[in-house]
Amino acid sequence: MQFIDKVKISVTAGKGGNGVVRFRREKYVPAGGPAGGDGGDGGDVILEVDPNLTTLVDFRYRRKYKAQDGEDGGSFNRFGKDAPDLIIGVPPGTILKDPETDEILADMTVPGQRVVVAKGGRGGRGNTRFKSPTRQAPQFAEQGLPGWSRELVLELKLLADVGLVGYPNVGKSTFISRISAAKPKIADYPFTTLVPNLGVVSMGEGNSFVVADIPGLIEGAHAGVGLGHEFLRHVERCRVLVHMIDMSGYEGRDPREDYRQILYELEQYSPELAQRPQIVVANKMDLPNAAVNLEEFRREYPQLTVYEMSAATGQGIDAVLSAMWSVVREMREAEPVKEGQEVPEVLVLEPAVKKAELRDFTITQDDEDEAFVVKGQGLEGLMLRIDFNNEESVKWFLRLLEDIGVVAQLREAGIEDGDTVRVGEYEFEFVD
Ligand code: GDP
Ligand code: MG
Repeated sequence: MQFIDKVKISVTAGKGGNGVVRFRREKYVPAGGPAGGDGGDGGDVILEVDPNLTTLVDFRYRRKYKAQDGEDGGSFNRFGKDAPDLIIGVPPGTILKDPETDEILADMTVPGQRVVVAKGGRGGRGNTRFKSPTRQAPQFAEQGLPGWSRELVLELKLLADVGLVGYPNVGKSTFISRISAAKPKIADYPFTTLVPNLGVVSMGEGNSFVVADIPGLIEGAHAGVGLGHEFLRHVERCRVLVHMIDMSGYEGRDPREDYRQILYELEQYSPELAQRPQIVVANKMDLPNAAVNLEEFRREYPQLTVYEMSAATGQGIDAVLSAMWSVVREMREAEPVKEGQEVPEVLVLEPAVKKAELRDFTITQDDEDEAFVVKGQGLEGLMLRIDFNNEESVKWFLRLLEDIGVVAQLREAGIEDGDTVRVGEYEFEFVD
């Protein structure tokens, strides 16, 4: 059994700043040479493994990420500033997937590991760059390229930080649904459904932990019955247990006896688990008999700190949350930091393109120069976004042409090495 946290986000890189058309205007020089500066590059969107994060809960509050645009160029050949990259922390163990194909794009495990998920657009060149002996006063400049954007699925295997134990109906599910960003179902009948409840609790950005309700403990989990055993194995790694007691004495039960019985079951199942620090919570304090029962309970266990709570009214929940969080944090900090893991090279994801739209193209031959002309709206639109000054981008584009069947069709049309292929404004020499 595995618990997977899963979120879908969208990322957009920054657009490149525009190059501009400017001329030097000095006193007594009516029109000087070109002086339009280049635009700065748009910011990349980068995911980076942050060892302090443990869940994806922050992404539930924010799903759209956009890096800043590059600055436009200026007069006097002033360059526009490059925009800073937008760096987003993800917990170790995060897997990136393509939402459409479900393909795994990256496995992010090592602290500091980076994946560029959307590349910023290159800044456009200013008119100064287009000056040549035959063109002393170029009247044009380049626009900055748009940044790439895409959707991504982030997945993370969750491990419970806090295990919740207690008899059926003491209020475990109610408590989890109150404190977590993900709401589980609550069954209102006297038997625990053997569906483990998992809650992810956010204590503010960057701080979160996982609570798991451990069902089936009483129903003979230590004997390996049903889901209990498998689930307990999962929960064995938790750092702290919350032991919840129904202090109202529901159906004539004795809270003191319940507490003892759960401890016994725990010890039977896993002595190791029973050693975990425990936070004892008296729940249902809103009910009539609870106060009296609690007094008796305290008399029997004078050494215990007991938190009074009502999962139904919310009374006392914050104190329990703080207690859980402080133990979790303390234990996380006490854990030895894994060192010596080599940070992998930065991975740059290829742009996400809708290949189906690109496959709609035609190939004809130009009457005059016999060049092979590839026409297609999707393809030509895409080309406006590509930085053809960048070798990697060009290689990627040529691979894409192969991928969507352009190369195969060119061959069918009888193309040979050295022939010219024209796509949009660009020409390539065909080399098989
Ligand atoms: P679980 O079996 O431990 O998960 O218990 P549930 O969360 O399903 O709760 C069992 C029943 O007790 C439900 O009807 C809840 O509404 C009720 N309940 C839970 N907490 C409280 C509480 O603090 N006060 C009262 N009065 N009822 C509660
Ligand atoms: Mg329950």
